[in-house]
Amino acid sequence: MKSVALISGGIDSFVAAAFEKAQGSDIYGLSVNYGQIHRKELVCARKIGRFLGVKEHRFLDIDLSWLPSSLIDKNYVAEKISNIPPSYVPARNIIMLSLALAYAESIDADSIVIGVHSIDYSGYPDCRPEFIEAFQKVVNTGVKKSVEGGKIVIRTPLISLKKSEIIKIGNKLGLDFSITWSCYRGTEKACGECDSCKIRLAAFADAGLKDPVQYEN
Ligand SMILES: [Zn+2]
Repeated sequence: MKSVALISGGIDSFVAAAFEKAQGSDIYGLSVNYGQIHRKELVCARKIGRFLGVKEHRFLDIDLSWLPSSLIDKNYVAEKISNIPPSYVPARNIIMLSLALAYAESIDADSIVIGVHSIDYSGYPDCRPEFIEAFQKVVNTGVKKSVEGGKIVIRTPLISLKKSEIIKIGNKLGLDFSITWSCYRGTEKACGECDSCKIRLAAFADAGLKDPVQYEN
């Protein structure tokens, strides 16, 4: 079995890919440099690929730096009040899954694994089960492999889990979380103050585990 894993450098995609590997799949990593504020997460993505023993790891440069998002432009402020946070990148997971699908079809992979979860719901529409179901229909109707009787399944092993549960599973799988990065800043140590650091620290505390990443504060 072959699986294309979207690897971002964070905890979720690491645990999702490791979970898929534990089910017996060979992992083909895909990481995208889309113009994130810093490169640190891509450095971590490479380390994660090595840790997982990926068969191949593709890094794509897809310039999304023209899109409004606080993940791309740290000075970005949303124009309208919305329940969806400013870190939302327009259509990001549609773009990522499309790239993963092209890769999966080209190597005759059986699945794509993505670390989305919707329990501590960030408000991102492209992390919800209904989006994944809809994209599965795209896969089933839009590529040669599917119409010729083959199957590419989108796997979302974390979709109904809380962040603390994801960390516990990763811990059981023996993952080294010191090679992950969640902070919105790309400094030597994580800031401990941004939303992403706060969510991560709270989840480790909730899981009763110590975060091996170093923090400034
Ligand atoms: Zn931070």
